[in-house]
Amino acid sequence: MSKQKPSYDVVILGSGIAGSTLGAVLARSGVRVLLADGATHPRFAVGESMIPQLVAWLQVIAERFDVPEFQALADATTINEQVSNTFGRKRHFGFMLHRPGEEPDPTEAHQFVIPDALTSESHLFRQDSDAYLFRVAVGYGCATRQQWRVAQIAFDDDGVTLTGTDEREVTARYVVDASGFRSPLADHLGLREQPARFQHHSAPCSRI
Ligand SMILES: Cc1cc2nc3c(=O)[nH]c(=O)nc-3n(C[C@H](O)[C@H](O)[C@H](O)COP(=O)(O)OP(=O)(O)OC[C@H]3O[C@@H](n4cnc5c(N)ncnc54)[C@H](O)[C@@H]3O)c2cc1C
Repeated sequence: MSKQKPSYDVVILGSGIAGSTLGAVLARSGVRVLLADGATHPRFAVGESMIPQLVAWLQVIAERFDVPEFQALADATTINEQVSNTFGRKRHFGFMLHRPGEEPDPTEAHQFVIPDALTSESHLFRQDSDAYLFRVAVGYGCATRQQWRVAQIAFDDDGVTLTGTDEREVTARYVVDASGFRSPLADHLGLREQPARFQHHSAPCSRI
């Protein structure tokens, strides 16, 4: 890394739910943040079923770090009023048994219907919820770099240098990898686990 002062305190790789939420919290507290993403918002993303624990965490983070905008995601009514009218209301959580090499059997499925009294969670339309969180982070002062895919990471005593596929560099004191399963940091640090031998397991699949 060059001996100039790092350009940012923190570079966050990935502006999905995790990256943008952290970016908003840090920027709200005066940290110089660059939120970098290989894509551009709004962009397609899967993983839309809210669970009560996530709702509770969003409310805690909103209160603790004074980012009230997170509260909008905690409820199916507020998200449709404050984010966009594209979100469903969560009705159930389903699980289906998958056996290697076999078609799933509909008789080997569970469906847990959630009583209305217990939850009013939404079923996220991720391209809208993620774009909303990204805008919140920008509103609190995050610098952004979209369409910038990080290819290389190098650490030294001053921090970290990130190099994109376009060979542009960014320096920072810290890097947070919120890029999901692609994780260039996991590649760089050799953290990938060898896949375990496949065993029977049930995978969640949910529908509104
Ligand atoms: C089929 C499927 C169904 C799922 N269903 C659910 C569900 O019902 N409920 C639930 O809670 N979760 C579900 N998940 C999991 C959920 O999708 C993830 O946990 C969630 O998206 C993780 O959010 P994130 O912000 O960490 O990462 P992501 O949302 O994956 O965002 C990562 C971001 O990083 C960017 N990026 C990646 N590589 C780079 C790079 N090298 N440089 C720069 N940017 C980069 C990407 O463009 C992306 O915008 C599901 C996942 C799958 C695959």
